[in-house]
Amino acid sequence: MIIFNSAEKLKNHLNELRSQGNTIGFAPTMGALHQGHISLIAIAKAQCDVVVCSIFVNPTQFNDLKDLDKYPRTLEADTALLESANCDILFAPEINEIYSAEELLLKQENKEDKSWMQGKNVDFGMMDKVMEGALRPGHFNGVAQVVSKLFRIVNPHKAFFGQKDFQQLSIIRSMVNQLELPIEIVACPIVRETDGLAMSSRNIRITPEEREMVPYIYKTLVAVSAIYLYSNIINIKKLVAGAFEETGIFELEYFELVDADTLQPIEDFKSAKSVVACVAVKLKNVRLIDNIVLY
Ligand code: AMP
Repeated sequence: MIIFNSAEKLKNHLNELRSQGNTIGFAPTMGALHQGHISLIAIAKAQCDVVVCSIFVNPTQFNDLKDLDKYPRTLEADTALLESANCDILFAPEINEIYSAEELLLKQENKEDKSWMQGKNVDFGMMDKVMEGALRPGHFNGVAQVVSKLFRIVNPHKAFFGQKDFQQLSIIRSMVNQLELPIEIVACPIVRETDGLAMSSRNIRITPEEREMVPYIYKTLVAVSAIYLYSNIINIKKLVAGAFEETGIFELEYFELVDADTLQPIEDFKSAKSVVACVAVKLKNVRLIDNIVLY
């Protein structure tokens, strides 16, 4: 695996590979890698000649600076994991490779920077106003900002994203369409621990007592997928809220049944072509999200 810190050097190297007819696959990450990330590399390896993984903890997508500080940074272990997954290239830039001083100043002043749209009026409509977007103002603008920058550096044929972050995946798809980037976005299934907990870099912040309880999140989603045909939205929501409250350790931030295309809460099960149940819960030191596609 070749490691690049410089965007310019990576670009030149990839231009060379592209000119030799190689297809480039790309999986952007924030590091603290686990088997969920590695599954993206494996899927990318199966579909592309050269696979690039980036590790960059993106400050502009954090609205809580404490969360940014606390974000795990484990570059050495990540490098070893990527090596063992046969990843071809790791891009691990310093912050100045990605953001100008002006852009970082805007972040410090808590202003949303729209320059990544490059003159186009990218509009996510209501897609970034619900769920994560409603609770984390500016989060998806920061995600789109960094992913569009990384896309311009790597210029991949295909980019691989996990369905774990279902809303993020939809927003990236929309961004690629609106910016008319010639990149295929590939959705990759959620990788879970054997007890159902969705893998996440943040899981290391779960206390041992909480660890016993967290499989409950996925179990609740599975229960929803088993009963939704025989119930209605109001009852399902009541049931889920009650189930989390009963445990005494989860604070339910949201549970939504959304249209997979628009991400808007559905009014009934008949009108949506595909429905996803999405949940976010807070524990003492960590916030966890998960989802399940109902149909
Ligand atoms: P992150 O490092 O958390 O920004 O995640 C980088 C990429 O890995 C995103 O596309 C995530 O959706 C994906 N990812 C994270 N956790 C999982 C998981 N458990 N299963 C599949 N993909 C995941």
